[in-house]
Amino acid sequence: VRRNPNESEFHQAVKEILDSLLPVFAKHPKYRELGILERVVEPERFVQFRVPWVDDEGKIRVNRGFRVQFNSAIGPYKGGLRFHPTVNASIIKFLGFEQIFKNALTGQPIGGGKGGSDFDPKGKSDGEIMRFTQSFMTELYKYIGPDADVPAGDIGVGAREIGYMFGQYKRIRGGHEAGVLTGKGVGYGGSLTRTEATGYGCVYFVNEMLKYKGLSFHGSTVVVSGSGNVSIYAMEKAAQLGAKVVACSDSDGYIYDPEGIHIETVKRLKEVERKRIREYVDKHPQAVYTEGCEGIWSIPCDIALPCATQNEIDGEAARKLVAGGVRAVGEGANMPSTLEAVEVFLNHRVLFGPAKAANAGGVAVSALEMAQNSMRTSWTFEEVDAKLHTIMKNIYENSVQAAEEYGVSGNLVAGANIAGFLKVADAMVLQGIV
Ligand code: NDP
Repeated sequence: VRRNPNESEFHQAVKEILDSLLPVFAKHPKYRELGILERVVEPERFVQFRVPWVDDEGKIRVNRGFRVQFNSAIGPYKGGLRFHPTVNASIIKFLGFEQIFKNALTGQPIGGGKGGSDFDPKGKSDGEIMRFTQSFMTELYKYIGPDADVPAGDIGVGAREIGYMFGQYKRIRGGHEAGVLTGKGVGYGGSLTRTEATGYGCVYFVNEMLKYKGLSFHGSTVVVSGSGNVSIYAMEKAAQLGAKVVACSDSDGYIYDPEGIHIETVKRLKEVERKRIREYVDKHPQAVYTEGCEGIWSIPCDIALPCATQNEIDGEAARKLVAGGVRAVGEGANMPSTLEAVEVFLNHRVLFGPAKAANAGGVAVSALEMAQNSMRTSWTFEEVDAKLHTIMKNIYENSVQAAEEYGVSGNLVAGANIAGFLKVADAMVLQGIV
């Protein structure tokens, strides 16, 4: 706290991990002796830079760019770029820190990183997005590369933004280093299933938790927050598995459709027309739109998938979900539940899939995209989806096993933290004091 003042999100992410690592340090004093803890919370590198650009009115605008290269013990830094007005050093460091252990859990050779800007893409023209992303990449290119650091998308950064950034990187560097970014279009080195991977992966993970208790998505009622990349494909996979998804949201409000959300309408509104979720009710008058996001957690449901942003479920929202009969929660977003909310879920024996494990499908398929780029090949949708499914099952099993081994049986928050940490810590031990 003294070293990183005013970084509450970063403190929250570190506290969650450290609390669950106590049994690990008790069992293996060597990690303490070798200063693993002190080293792992300190980024290997943190860059902050100016991003100047010109808007459509000819006005000069200045945003702030960030990249944190947190840990490269098991592979090149890997993690998305977020464009959102709330982005600051604390947000980037919390995301980068979580990414280290998430990436380790995937079993793929990738280290942890994250980046982004306080640029707000909302309401910007295509030309403005292009000029901003080109300016952003004109600085970022110095720090990244297929074997060094491989950014991807996150909130506000999708296929369009990755495309413009890839174009600018190629222009500066020359050549076609496909592996420098992931989430690319499939026509120029992207992987099939990457768009779907985080949402699908989250549902695969929750499905494993449900199976263990003899439950399933089939016939269950599901509430999903957000209506972006993760949310859309979580809804799609849940519906494919026989669930009825009754609600989703954006940062203005949420829709409730008693018939079940028509996912094609959400896709068109958000992916093609870039409109607000409230416009869903124009097409489906039986649905109800409510201004404000918090109310979504009062809707009774069996399964809740928070897929929008950090700290969207606080203690009170968690208690509402419990009162509404929730049986399972799968975190599609990063750190969507506050520490208090997690406690409420665990105390009420709600099956709880923490972000680090449940949303690791996206970065896992990004690592598969890197592998395809290196091999100069491309796998089919079915091949990548099958690999994703296996990876999510493994993450679940490894988290369950780690929790058992360290005396916190059934606690997947601790299990995922421990399993991810051990892999990184062991690699750090073998590489000496660096
Ligand atoms: P998108 O930008 O595609 O969608 C984000 C969605 O969340 C939008 O509906 C957005 O609404 C809503 N949202 C964003 N900020 C807020 C807020 N402050 N309050 C309420 N709603 C908000 O992002 P993604 O779907 O890619 O990311 C969603 C979450 O999943 C993030 O936490 C991200 O870090 C995490 N994640 C994403 C991965 C990926 O592969 N994309 C991988 C792993 C994790 P609006 O349009 O109004 O802003």
